[in-house]
Amino acid sequence: MRTQVAIVGAGPAGLMLAHLLHLQGIESFILETRSRASIESTVRAGVIEQSTVDLMAATGVAGRLLKEGCPHHGIYLRFDGKNHFIDVFELMGGKTVMFYPQHEIIKDLVAACLAVGGDIRFEAQNVRVSDFDTDHPKVQFQHEGQEITLDCDFIAGCDGSQGICRNTIPASAYTIYDKIYPFSWFGILAEAPSAGKLIYSYHEKGFALVSSRTPNLQRMYFQVDPNDSVANWPDERIWAEFYARLEGEDGWTFESGKIIKKDIIGMRSYVIEPMQYGRMFLAGDAAHIIPPTGAKGLNLAIADVKHLADGLQHFYATGNTAELETYSSKCLRRIWRAEHFSWWMTSMLHRFPDDNKFQQKLQLSQLRYTASSHAAAYSLAENYAGFEG
Ligand SMILES: Cc1cc2nc3c(=O)[nH]c(=O)nc-3n(C[C@H](O)[C@H](O)[C@H](O)COP(=O)(O)OP(=O)(O)OC[C@H]3O[C@@H](n4cnc5c(N)ncnc54)[C@H](O)[C@@H]3O)c2cc1C
Repeated sequence: MRTQVAIVGAGPAGLMLAHLLHLQGIESFILETRSRASIESTVRAGVIEQSTVDLMAATGVAGRLLKEGCPHHGIYLRFDGKNHFIDVFELMGGKTVMFYPQHEIIKDLVAACLAVGGDIRFEAQNVRVSDFDTDHPKVQFQHEGQEITLDCDFIAGCDGSQGICRNTIPASAYTIYDKIYPFSWFGILAEAPSAGKLIYSYHEKGFALVSSRTPNLQRMYFQVDPNDSVANWPDERIWAEFYARLEGEDGWTFESGKIIKKDIIGMRSYVIEPMQYGRMFLAGDAAHIIPPTGAKGLNLAIADVKHLADGLQHFYATGNTAELETYSSKCLRRIWRAEHFSWWMTSMLHRFPDDNKFQQKLQLSQLRYTASSHAAAYSLAENYAGFEG
């Protein structure tokens, strides 16, 4: 079998890349280890930046997002027993973020790809990439009992943080920059009415986050020890923890409901540089991981593949690889801004095991400054809405 661009992974990065390439008349082929039902139901991101919305709208895949997504004008920082609103919409002159679940974006992109005859091989097994240091890269895999070799011009490694593409690059060809945080997030999905607010709460018992997926489906998190386990948290204990961390003198409260999912998410920052080796390009979580505090991962994945699609279009139009050679440097500028922002938000809002009272005073001072200074609030808003420069 042969294609122009072999894409490993049908997450937001891989699917959006296939969509952008199709619009430019470039053929691609997607391999995905999971089933269609599984990728279309895994709950992950929800905060979608304006630039992602704009790209989806400009390329004709934002119909449902624009109808069913919920625009959010800002976020609340909750500390000192009160909510403090950061009005992102006002500060950014009308730019804001949209709430629309990642798995709904996946459904929209899978449908768009299949509607134009795109090839996605779900439940592919034993996927291997090779020869990307030549002009004839290969992807081999098993599908429905058959061993298949796919010849291609380029490989896009869009296979997320646990994928295989990154690990096949010779270790001497890249540098890894990473940081592991000394806590995780305990996440729940609950059938409960929306609190109508996106709240980042700093509390002496630890960080908590209130967010919505739909008016009746809430995604909420609190920080836990990285060695904690879901089994330690019966529903009553979870709700008691949320109420304790979100209590306050302002009397603000929220409604609990039926918990339909519980998980623990590790907190890590990670970047590989460069994001390309020969004719293989890494995009999205395969190349960088961001703690979810800044809500950036999906948005960066989409920004990466826009650069990659532009570089590939230039190559197929001219035969020249100059644009592709700048792929990493174009992506990394925005990635490092997002890495810094997410690290900054994480550092300001969480309790660290080795914190002393001095550091906690500094965190509170930073929160008060951010909530009361136009310059500080503007900086948060600019990064939250997505800084592309
Ligand atoms: C709790 C949480 C909340 C988040 N909130 C936000 C948010 O609000 N906003 C935001 O922007 N981001 C958020 N993120 C991050 C976001 O979900 C990820 O950054 C995003 O999924 C990255 O997309 P991707 O396509 O690069 O990778 P993935 O979504 O991980 O997709 C990779 C795909 O590759 C497949 N795959 C893996 N290995 C192979 C293989 N060997 N062969 C073939 N296929 C393979 C996987 O099955 C998967 O389908 C959040 C993440 C978490 C965990």
